Amino acid sequence: MTAWTNWARTATAIPHRTVSPRDPEEAAAAISAAAREGRTVRPLGSGHSFTPVGAPQDAVALDLSRWTGIVRADPGTGLVTVRSGTPLHQLNAELDALGLAMANLGDIDRQTVAGAISTGTHGTGARLGGLATQVEELELLLADGSTRTCSPRQEPELFDAARVGLGALGVITTVTLRCVPAFALAADEHPEPLDGVLERFDDLVRDNDHVEFYWFPHGSNTLVKRNNRLPDDRPPRPLHPVRHFLEYEVLENRVFGALCRVGRGVPALVRPLNRLCGSTWSSRSYSDRSHRVFTTPRSVRFVESEYAVPREALHDVLTELRAAVGRLEHPVMFPVEVRVAAADEIWLSTAYRRPTAYVAIHQFAGMPYRHWFRTFEDIATAAGGRPHWGKVHGLDADELRGRYPRFEDFRRVRSAVDPHGTFRNPYLDRVLGPP
Ligand SMILES: Cc1cc2nc3c(=O)[nH]c(=O)nc-3n(C[C@H](O)[C@H](O)[C@H](O)COP(=O)(O)OP(=O)(O)OC[C@H]3O[C@@H](n4cnc5c(N)ncnc54)[C@H](O)[C@@H]3O)c2cc1C
Repeated sequence: MTAWTNWARTATAIPHRTVSPRDPEEAAAAISAAAREGRTVRPLGSGHSFTPVGAPQDAVALDLSRWTGIVRADPGTGLVTVRSGTPLHQLNAELDALGLAMANLGDIDRQTVAGAISTGTHGTGARLGGLATQVEELELLLADGSTRTCSPRQEPELFDAARVGLGALGVITTVTLRCVPAFALAADEHPEPLDGVLERFDDLVRDNDHVEFYWFPHGSNTLVKRNNRLPDDRPPRPLHPVRHFLEYEVLENRVFGALCRVGRGVPALVRPLNRLCGSTWSSRSYSDRSHRVFTTPRSVRFVESEYAVPREALHDVLTELRAAVGRLEHPVMFPVEVRVAAADEIWLSTAYRRPTAYVAIHQFAGMPYRHWFRTFEDIATAAGGRPHWGKVHGLDADELRGRYPRFEDFRRVRSAVDPHGTFRNPYLDRVLGPP
C-alpha cells in the first residue's frame, strides 16, 4: 500500500486501501463497505495541512481527485456548485471563464475546495471572512452512506458545523459557493519598519480591502502588502511575465530557497541572512485578476503554526513575540505573517464571533522549530488564541473547548451523524475528543 504524506512532510500514514470514486454513488459504496468492516474513512484533500488532520492511517482513504469541476453556475446570483475534489486553481480558472470570482482567497491555490473550507482556510481583509463564509450549501455523505444537504434553511445546525467540519462529519460531495463578479486587484507592496506598521495597523486595516505584512523575526523591517479592488473602468496592469517569473519564481522561491539551505547548513548565518532578506525587500505595484494577486507559487517547503487572536490583542502578541525571539534556542529562517478577518458565525471557525488577527510563524523544513512554536503557542494561547486546525499546534479538546463557545454543539452534531466514529482519526480524537 502506498504511503500518504502531507505537503510539509510533517505527517505520514499508511491507509488500509485507497479508493478513487468517480461519483458520490461510488463514494457512498466505499463508505458503506468500510463501515461494514469496522474501518475508518478519510477523505483526502491535497495534503496541504501541516497537522495530521488529513492522515488516513489504517483508513479507507477516499481520493477525490476524479471528482472535480463546476456542476452548475448562476452568474446572476453568483451561486456556483462545485465538486468537492476541485483544486482551487482549477476553480479560479473555471470561475474566471464565467465572469465570476471568489471574494477572498488564501495565499496559495493548491488546496481542494473541500479540504480548504474544512480547516478554516482564510485570506486577509477585515470586512471579509474565510473561505467557509462564502459557502451557501453543502452536500455530504454520512457514515451510513446516506446523503444530506445542508444550508441556512435546511439542517442549519449541520450547516454551522460542517462548513469548518475538519472532515469529522462526513464526506462533502458538493460545495455551493456565493461568488462575486470577476474583479481585479491593485497590489501595492512596500517595506516599512515593524514599529510603524504596528502603530498604524488599525488605519491600514480600515483603509484597505486586504492587508497583510511579513516580518523576519531577527530583523525589524516588514513587507506590507495592500490589495485593493480596482475600479471596473481601469484595465489591470499585470507584471510583465518575465518580471513575474524573476520576482516570484526566482527571487521568492529559488534564491530564497538557496538562502534557507545556507542557513540550515550554517545556523550562525541565519540572523544576518534574516536581516539581509528584510532589508532587501523592495516596493512593487501592479494590478491583475483577483486570484492572480491573492495567490502565489510556494515551492520552498516549511513548517507553519498559526493562531487567531482577538484583533485588539495583536499589538501585545507581536511585542511579546519580538521580545522572545532573542531567547530562542535556534534561529528562525522564515518570516512571521500577519493577516485579519471579520467575525463570523461558523461554530469551529477561528474567527467565530470575534474580529480576528492571524499571526502565522514558520520555519524552513529540516530546521529545528519546536522551541519557536512552543514559545509562540504560550504567547498566543495566553491572549485567547485559537490555533488554525490545519497548522501545527499542541492543544487538545480540553483546552480547545473553552475557546469555542459552540464546541459541545459541534460534538453533539458529530455524534448524531457519525455515532460509530467512522470519520475519526488520531488528530481528531485529540482536538475533538473521542466521538
Ligand atoms: C504552502 C501552504 C500555504 C497555505 N496557505 C494558507 C493560507 O493562506 N490560509 C490558510 O488559512 N491556510 C493556508 N494553508 C493551510 C491549508 O489551506 C489548509 O490546511 C487546508 O485545509 C489544506 O487543504 P487540502 O485540500 O490540502 O486539505 P487536506 O489538508 O488534505 O485535508 C484537510 C481536512 O479536510 C478533510 N477533507 C478533504 N476533503 C474532504 C471532503 N470532500 N469532505 C470532508 N472532508 C474533507 C480532510 O480529511 C482533512 O480532515 C496553507 C498550507 C500550505 C502548505
